Amino acid sequence: MKGHSAQLWKDPKERLPPGSHLPWSIWKTLNRLRTETGRTASNMKKWGIKEDGKCECGREQDVDHLFACPRLPIECGKEEFLTHEISDKAIQIVAYWEGKGI
Ligand SMILES: [Zn+2]
Repeated sequence: MKGHSAQLWKDPKERLPPGSHLPWSIWKTLNRLRTETGRTASNMKKWGIKEDGKCECGREQDVDHLFACPRLPIECGKEEFLTHEISDKAIQIVAYWEGKGI
């Protein structure tokens, strides 16, 4: 019977995407950016929560804008969010948008 229960408890193969060690609020925003489902002004307007879809910089704040806003602390491409290891640059971008409620 010992061998049988060992078989039932195989290690799970599935892993969380990179960044799961980060604080939850950062992790949440990171995944919103990765999956392009963020609470952007553009989406908030579409959902009837906000009157305009503009970013603080004055441009339309759609998902692509989250990677290109001139107010970002550093430049960072979308590909930084899809790598196996989450980069410090990506974390800085995520922290910026997390502070803005994305
Ligand atoms: Zn902007």
